[in-house]
Amino acid sequence: MLLRLPTTVSEAQECMAEGAVPIGGATLVWATWQRDGFPELAMSLRNLPEANAVEPEALGSAVVLHRIDDRVPEVLRRAAGSVGTGAVRRTATVGGNLVGSSLRCLLPAALVLDARATVLGPDRAYETDLGEVVAKRHLLLGLSWRTPAASGYHKQPAEAGGPPPLVVATAVHADDEGRHHLRVAVRDGYEVLGETTACDMDTGEVLDALERTDVGALPPAARDVVRRRVTDILGSVTGR
Ligand SMILES: Cc1cc2nc3c(=O)[nH]c(=O)nc-3n(C[C@H](O)[C@H](O)[C@H](O)COP(=O)(O)OP(=O)(O)OC[C@H]3O[C@@H](n4cnc5c(N)ncnc54)[C@H](O)[C@@H]3O)c2cc1C
Repeated sequence: MLLRLPTTVSEAQECMAEGAVPIGGATLVWATWQRDGFPELAMSLRNLPEANAVEPEALGSAVVLHRIDDRVPEVLRRAAGSVGTGAVRRTATVGGNLVGSSLRCLLPAALVLDARATVLGPDRAYETDLGEVVAKRHLLLGLSWRTPAASGYHKQPAEAGGPPPLVVATAVHADDEGRHHLRVAVRDGYEVLGETTACDMDTGEVLDALERTDVGALPPAARDVVRRRVTDILGSVTGR
């Protein structure tokens, strides 16, 4: 296997055109490749500046999870810190987690930040939404978002190797007129749902509004967790 390490977007495009398989930390692909054979050509984005940002409003796809610190919003930092073991976090990347893993602990966090994905197409890099990246397994360069007023991440404790634990991510953003909007994303099993609601009203009204969305169809225990997390974040933003 030849591993290419492009340092510019156009070099990465050349690698794509040659059929290079993207690789992050190889924590998932290594075992498969050992079993089924290695691809002829792979590419890592670890030397590409665009894929290495760790900023208040941007995160590159080649960033390894343990590098994600308080430069990014709390929801993303805590999501990254919850993945696997220290050894996994020192090797696994943002791109491998969002595009390549089935658990995708970073996905609910990225959804509540309303993050946009920058992906590399055959002709150019362009922005798209996370759903499309996950569904079409585009080559991800990075994520960008607007800084939220507050955010939070909760992952239920779970046995290693057991079913995926419930994840509830929350974020509140202010719009240009100063109105606040709450985003909630819930991973229940392998499914992730995301909802948005205005939240400049009484907490009870916000919770009622959420109950009328797909959140209301979650199992009672999951809805309890959502209610607690929403109450907490609204309290932290408005002092209610
Ligand atoms: C012990 C263990 C525990 C784990 N626990 C969790 C957990 O709690 N939560 C969780 O979410 N995950 C968990 N994982 C999965 C972990 O997040 C993945 O191993 C990791 O995200 C894969 O990242 P990687 O960089 O090693 O990807 P790789 O193994 O290198 O690649 C995986 C796939 O992603 C593709 N890919 C990589 N980078 C890109 C890119 N930039 N654009 C497009 N496609 C790309 C590759 O082509 C490949 O198909 C665990 C894994 C292990 C081994």
